[in-house]
Amino acid sequence: MNQNGFADMVISKNMAQPSAQKSRMMSRIRTKGTAPELALRSALHSAGFRFRLHRKNLPGKPDILLPKYRIVIFVHGCFWHHHEGCSKSKLPATNKEFWNGKIAANVERDKRNLAELEKLGWRIAVVWECSLKNQRSKTATVEALFSWVRTDLKRFESVSGNAGTGGV
Ligand SMILES: [Zn+2]
Repeated sequence: MNQNGFADMVISKNMAQPSAQKSRMMSRIRTKGTAPELALRSALHSAGFRFRLHRKNLPGKPDILLPKYRIVIFVHGCFWHHHEGCSKSKLPATNKEFWNGKIAANVERDKRNLAELEKLGWRIAVVWECSLKNQRSKTATVEALFSWVRTDLKRFESVSGNAGTGGV
């Protein structure tokens, strides 16, 4: 059945249970996940977590779901979601008013979405992009997230990768 190099692509389209590598490839095509998001997904995958992506019918369209734990995970860009105290969340010097309004609206929307998700019984993890930016902070973030998963605490927020590096 695998005649040539193209076979993989054909098979991955039709397979009900794609392998890790193929499902990563497919999800990349389907959802165009950001690099930090992909990094987190692959960490979850190698730790054996079953997850789903981008549930559009949930408030805020969470990036990753762990249905078994009733957990939603957001991988938040520090600028757009205004990571408080993070160097990446600084507004541009020009058009400050415009940016202030836009980012404030995002923050409000995030708050509403998280509150709704909580009401629906989901536990919520917010993983900031800066906390996945290098190998060291990625490892720390993933470890913290994984141990939170096994608690029954409602919320998780990753520690800033920019804290203590002159960014705050
Ligand atoms: Zn940040």
